[in-house]
Amino acid sequence: MVSTSRTFIEVGRGLTTAKRTFPRFHLAAAAIVATSCVYAYTISLTPPSEASTEISATGTVSSPSALVAWQLPVLAEPQAADPMEYEIQAGDTLSGIFTDKGFDHATLNAILTADEELLALDVLRPGTTLRFERGPESGDLLELSLVVHPGRTIHYRRTIDDHFEFEEEIKPSHWHDDVFGAPIHGSFYASAREVGLSDGEIFRAQRIFEERVNFRRDIRAGDRFEIVLSREMVDVGATGQTRIEAIRLRLGNRIQNAFLHEDGNYYDDRGESLSRAFLRYPMQGSYRVSSHFNLRRLHPVTGRIAPHHGVDFAMPTGTSILSIGDGIVSRVGNHPFAGKYIEIDHLGQFKTRYLHLSRNDVKRGQRISRGDHVALSGNTGRSTGPHLHFELHVNNRPVDPLKADIPTASRVPEEEMAVFTQRVATLDAAMRVNQTHLASRSVPKANSGGI
Ligand SMILES: [Zn+2]
Repeated sequence: MVSTSRTFIEVGRGLTTAKRTFPRFHLAAAAIVATSCVYAYTISLTPPSEASTEISATGTVSSPSALVAWQLPVLAEPQAADPMEYEIQAGDTLSGIFTDKGFDHATLNAILTADEELLALDVLRPGTTLRFERGPESGDLLELSLVVHPGRTIHYRRTIDDHFEFEEEIKPSHWHDDVFGAPIHGSFYASAREVGLSDGEIFRAQRIFEERVNFRRDIRAGDRFEIVLSREMVDVGATGQTRIEAIRLRLGNRIQNAFLHEDGNYYDDRGESLSRAFLRYPMQGSYRVSSHFNLRRLHPVTGRIAPHHGVDFAMPTGTSILSIGDGIVSRVGNHPFAGKYIEIDHLGQFKTRYLHLSRNDVKRGQRISRGDHVALSGNTGRSTGPHLHFELHVNNRPVDPLKADIPTASRVPEEEMAVFTQRVATLDAAMRVNQTHLASRSVPKANSGGI
């Protein structure tokens, strides 16, 4: 059996939609019946004149649904949410949700096995949705879908031999740029909030300049900023994913620029990197690669074909693991199959993960410098021997850490300077237009314009 573990589906066309529409149709039909039930039930309680008006509006009181309602008034629950859909609340655990839905531990385990390379279910974000699909006769879980955001859904599907495989459904998207700018009053944070930036976006903006600007001491009244912010859009609207394409701070006579290059790193207008280059390897010394990055690997434990989203280095338990770049610890986890693990969010579009550790030596939210010791390697989770599983993600997609074009130099490479300079010119023009516009209005408030 060949698994399709990572495919890109254009939603809205083809078989996927057809498959997905069918159960929805049933749900819609059920909802109509439920509504009609309530409607009919209400009739019995409302004054005759009002009731008769309502009845004539829908045709006849002896419609099949109305009859059903009279016979089964207990069905009248118009507000009942779809029992197979669940919106994650703060404090939820996956095992708790599975128990509530009546699925056993073995099913949960099979799902977590399928999630080992994604770890998408290991951190449940409030507001995201889980959808369950049961087998019509057995009642077994056939499919669990995690709606990460409107542009990304992960499906965990039961296979013929009762395992689960994941498939990511990524909607085609485009990125829309908006320009924001304003004089700074009080703090950069307050002024950026005023033009509509989120806490996360402001935090990222501050991190971009953390080597060059002290946001407590360097900001004076009359300073100003401009930001080009890109939003990911799909057919149903924004996914909530944003990235800073460019940012400019005017601090007195000093101007600080940052431009996102196509390698995922930020550089100033001369092409100098704003952060220190990455290390290629997360440890000192050299260790044998026991398993390479491979989207179709035969798994050594399960014997199944599944993606391997990282590179494995065979090393004795207790080897010191180093962060390959400056960053902030975004996860410290303990997964039944990935074992103890750490995720670090780096500046720009990079994340790294370190799995099967024997000991985590950092806390979530901790600032990390390139080369810092973060953990000891181990053999925890589902593992055939002591090793480090190391992942590098660019733009939230795993890439081969040994081959990826990561910024290991301190400036934009010479052969990429022409492309970089062109991009700087475009973003610079957008920020200048924005500034002129604001100056002419002389109103320090929210502003945005597409470019
Ligand atoms: Zn591995």
